[in-house]
Parts: sequence; C-alpha cells; structure tokens
Amino acid sequence: MLVGGISQESNTFSPSPSTMDDFRSQLFVQGEELEKMNVANEINGFYQAAREEGVTCIPTLFGHAVSSGVFKREALQELKLLLEDHLRKAGDYDGVFFAFHGAMVAEGCDDVEGELLGVIRSVIGKDVPLVISLDLHANVTRRMIQQVNGLIGFRTFPHIDFVQTGSRAAKLLFSIMRRGVAPAVAMVKVPMIVPAENGQTMHGPFAELWREAVKGEQSGDAIATSLFPVQPWLDIQEMGFASVVVGADECSAQKEAERLADLAWQLREQFDVQLYSVEEAVALALSCPSGAPVVVSDSADSPGAGSTGDSNAVLKRLLDMGMEHTLTCLMTMVDAPAVDKAIASGVGTAIKLSLGYSVHTSGGEPLFVEGTVRRIGDGKFRFGQGYAENTVGDMGRCVVFQVGTITVLLSEKPTFTGDPAMYRSMGLEPLVYDMVMVKSANQFRAEYEKLSDRIYILDTPGSSTANLLSLPYNRIERPMYPFEQTFHWSSAESGSKGKAGK
Ligand SMILES: [Zn+2]
Repeated sequence: MLVGGISQESNTFSPSPSTMDDFRSQLFVQGEELEKMNVANEINGFYQAAREEGVTCIPTLFGHAVSSGVFKREALQELKLLLEDHLRKAGDYDGVFFAFHGAMVAEGCDDVEGELLGVIRSVIGKDVPLVISLDLHANVTRRMIQQVNGLIGFRTFPHIDFVQTGSRAAKLLFSIMRRGVAPAVAMVKVPMIVPAENGQTMHGPFAELWREAVKGEQSGDAIATSLFPVQPWLDIQEMGFASVVVGADECSAQKEAERLADLAWQLREQFDVQLYSVEEAVALALSCPSGAPVVVSDSADSPGAGSTGDSNAVLKRLLDMGMEHTLTCLMTMVDAPAVDKAIASGVGTAIKLSLGYSVHTSGGEPLFVEGTVRRIGDGKFRFGQGYAENTVGDMGRCVVFQVGTITVLLSEKPTFTGDPAMYRSMGLEPLVYDMVMVKSANQFRAEYEKLSDRIYILDTPGSSTANLLSLPYNRIERPMYPFEQTFHWSSAESGSKGKAGK
C-alpha cells in the first residue's frame, strides 16, 4: 500500500506567498521518516488501520505547513517532481492513499490537489485503487473526483478527527481492494460560500446537515458522505460548497449528494456570524472581571486561514481606549523585526517598538509602543486539540512584551494560534486574564471552550475576515451566495452532475 500526503490551506487574499521551505521548516518527511512521524494525523490513522489488517505500507512523502498565501509556481514544480520520484521508486503496491487538505492554490494552478492527483495517476495507472482524505474546508473539484475511487473528509470542526479520518479512508480503500469493484463517487457543487466562524459541527446549521448525512449512511443511501463548506478565502474558479457521496451505485450516490446539497442551500443564511466591535468585547470582559476570561478572535488575521498574523488592529483600538491601565489582556502578533529588536535589547529592558503590519505592509500602519521585554523564547510548543495533537507549533523566536496591563506575545513566524499551549509555552496562563485574543476562525474552540463560554468574533480588517462582502472576489462563478442573495438554485435544475466514479 502506497501512502503519502501534502497539506496546506491557501488564502488567495493573503499577500504572503508559500514555498517548499514552509513545509521543510514545519513538517516534511520522506520515506521511512513518514512511519516514525509521531503526530495524531490522517497518516497515523491510516497506519493504525493498516496494522490491524496486516497490510504493509510503502511510505512516500508527507508535508504539512500552516496556511498561507498562494504556493509559488516553482515550488509546485519541485513538489510534483519529488512526488513523482517517490512514486516511481515505490516498488509493488495494490492500493494508494493520500492525505490532502484540498484547498491548496498555486500560482497558475487553482487546484493543486487535482494537479498532484494527475501526477499520481500518471504513475500508478488507471486501475490501482486510489482513496484520498480531505479537510472539510477543501474546495473539491471535478478533476479531483474524476481521479479517485473514494474520498473521505473530516467530519468535525474544530477538527478533532484527523486520526479517525485516516482510519476511515483505510477501511474504504481496503474494502474496494477486497471486492475489486470501486463504488461510485458523486458530487454536487452548491453556489454558496459561508463564513468558517459559524461552521462548527457540534451545533448550528452544519450540525443539522451532518445529522441528515448520517441518516443517509445509516439507511444505506451512502457508504460514506463528506460535506465541504469550503474555506471562504479563495478567489478561484469552481469555488463553492460541495456535497460528496461515495455510494454503492451512481444513481443512489447522486441522489443522496443532491438531497444534502439542497438542504445546505436551504440553510445558507443560518451560517451568518455575529461580529463584535473591540469596544463591545471590552465591555463584556469588564462586566464580569473575576469570571472566566472573555476569549475574542481576531479571525480576520488568522494564520490558520492564511493571513499574515501581523495585524495590530485590536491593540490599536485597546490603546485608543486607554485599556493598558484597566484591562488585563493577552494577545499575539507576528512581527519579526520587533522580536529582533526586543531580543537585542534584552529581558527587563524598557523599549519602544514598531508593532504590526511588518509582513502585510499595505494592511495598515505600524504602531509605536513603549513597553518592557518580559521573556524571550524559541517559540516551540506542542498542540493539544488546537491542531492535530502532538504537532509541534513553531512561532520562530518569540518575545513577551508588556504594555501596561496588556501582554503581547510577539513571534517571528505565523502558526495556528488556537491552542492555549502557545501562550503557556511562554509562561502565560490565559485563565488569569480578563481578555484573551486568538487569531482563529473556529479551530480554537476545541481548547478554548474548555476555558470559557464567553467567546466572541471581532469585526476587524484582514485577509480572512468573516465579512465576505468586504473581500475583492473577481474569479468565482456568479451568481454566488452571499454576493447575490435573491437567486434561485436547486440541484435538480443546476445540471451540476458532479459524477465520476469508475
Ligand atoms: Zn479545516
């Protein structure tokens, strides 16, 4: 069994491009190293299932990097050559599993996973069963569907089922190999993009959709259903929600995919998010100072959604309000030059730093702020459920900078910020603050809902804002909800027979 994967989410509105170095500096393993990777992810789940079945795996390569802007053209070329090389050297195998994100975009290529699947098929041929796993924020394309024999998406958001997804993909692949007959894979694309901030699967509209999907699986209408609300920050063709059903035959799979697509369309308005101003969030934090902290998300600047993480919008608003004397607040910001200057100055020194917009220079103006350097660190920490458990987070070198009652964790590099382990690695305990800021759309809820039930999404500027109407989409198909709100759509009339199957 051939095993591999590549996982990064792109944001086409982000000004910060991605390269192979982003993988190499975070997680990039080849050959035998892949088997030793001690991370609770899809590969790990696949290996567990393979061991239980006594199936031997041949590792190729696996890479994971924090979200970013588009992948460079030459980086995609390098990745394709590397992948092809591993596939050609692999020896004998009778099935293939790859773990992808599904929303990776490169310069000149809207569909990186479709492109990589093309490389895989060109080497393995058309007859070897190929199953992939995808993040539920994938933008699933017809090209992807046409090249796979099965597909399994995450079922949770915040994502806590990385391992289970790999294991489910393994079981699907093994069943295809045993029976020698591939199931049908049907997809219906729905012309809607919804904010990620209200796309959690525990409650709300997405939970309702999943209850229906599970009913379809239980009744036998689907072998495996995956729902992809897609992450919204992609200005590309073929963009939109996808309902994908692996079924026993084409007709039943298509019918079930259409049923869920129509239901998603009916629920579209329920994905809307309530956004709070910084002033409103401060009032809520100060209204109950001894309780659990108010957790606010500056999700518009989420590195987990490909933003640069260097916005100072919240800090600026707090300082304008004089909150550095009143509110204990913990926040994070990417600013490599500021980290450099603070480290040169040393722990305990008082200095003035330029803070913010050091990467996304056209995003706003830097702030000049006086404060004290409290602590310096190497920026490494281990994720709990803020990402695939045991993944090593890497902020680069980092500094705790104290501005009155406001504590700013400055880092050289962006990383997923939705895990309190990040703050705790620098001796900062979120529980003792009035307000804790993260830069994450929804993934942070997996850990932060354990600390507080007072969680608010801020209305701030940035490349991953929940206010989709404010973003400059040019290439998506129209009409598309929410940009057009009054048009009629149904799967029966759309003619969007996503079919594939083999
Ligand atoms: Zn995701």
